[in-house]
Amino acid sequence: MDNKDLLAQARAAREMAVAPSSKFKVGAALLCDDGSVFTGCNIESPTYLGICAERVALFKALSEGRRGFTVIAIAGGVDGGCPPCGACRQVLWEFAPELEVLLDDAQGGCIERRIAEYFPEPFDRSKVDPSRAAGR
Ligand code: ZN
Repeated sequence: MDNKDLLAQARAAREMAVAPSSKFKVGAALLCDDGSVFTGCNIESPTYLGICAERVALFKALSEGRRGFTVIAIAGGVDGGCPPCGACRQVLWEFAPELEVLLDDAQGGCIERRIAEYFPEPFDRSKVDPSRAAGR
């Protein structure tokens, strides 16, 4: 699985988005350390509750027993890529502090960063209980 393929899966997942309110569709594809890929799209409910594509992909993978994640590709159909929101940055960092993030640029190519670059000063459970660090 290379970055190009992962970005293609994120773009395909974007087509599944349920975004009647915002009309803003996002797809994500999460590569696990065993080579499996879990995709997700943003989902908005009629009462304006919702969840982002990144967390859908991550929660699907977690619910299927995966615990190691290496790369997430995000496709939002916008120039310069669609970076993860604050909630997604927190959760992605908690489960994969070394995660590579690929943003699909609607103009072509992608932007590559680490989740720690988006989330440089994380709040983690070590703040609540210093004997516990972030991780699984
Ligand atoms: Zn988000």
